Amino acid sequence: MDSEPPDIWKRFDTNVVTHSAAHHIVAIATLLERNGYARVSDVARTLNITRGSASLTLKTLREKGLVEEDENRFLRLSDRGEAIATAVVGKKRLIHKFFCDVLGVPEEAAEVDTCKIEHLVGPRTSRQLARFLHFVESDDPRAKEFLGAWVKCKASRAGGPDSQPAYDPDGVSEMRAEEKQQPDA
Ligand SMILES: [Zn+2]
Repeated sequence: MDSEPPDIWKRFDTNVVTHSAAHHIVAIATLLERNGYARVSDVARTLNITRGSASLTLKTLREKGLVEEDENRFLRLSDRGEAIATAVVGKKRLIHKFFCDVLGVPEEAAEVDTCKIEHLVGPRTSRQLARFLHFVESDDPRAKEFLGAWVKCKASRAGGPDSQPAYDPDGVSEMRAEEKQQPDA
């Protein structure tokens, strides 16, 4: 069942940005767009963390050349930082849409799970996801038929993926047990 190369998870640790760093970068982009400026204290307030904590992460991001600070302590994103912000925001939108609009995951759970993976999904997967969403939302009759069938399958327990405990190749029953323990995480 588990066919992924054994070391794949370790690559997440060598990503250019950590999860926390991705949120700092997006916070700067959002503040710049909304207010025209972003300081360490603004980032801290946006992320609901201490100034000291924001300052520490932003220092690392400056060292990586993703964030810049001018002589008046106003923050900017470098071109690379800007590209990361755009990519994370774009992926977030796609994944959230897929979870909510296609899979029918409740808003709050979709929000939490999108947050966990938005910065990890690679460009090829997000491009295919964008193409998939574009297809299912199109006027193509095959898309309508597919969505209609999925909506019916989702609504009825019979024939749905959680109705066949005897055949459970994807560990659905284990997932449901986990769901009972952690409702939305
Ligand atoms: Zn997140």
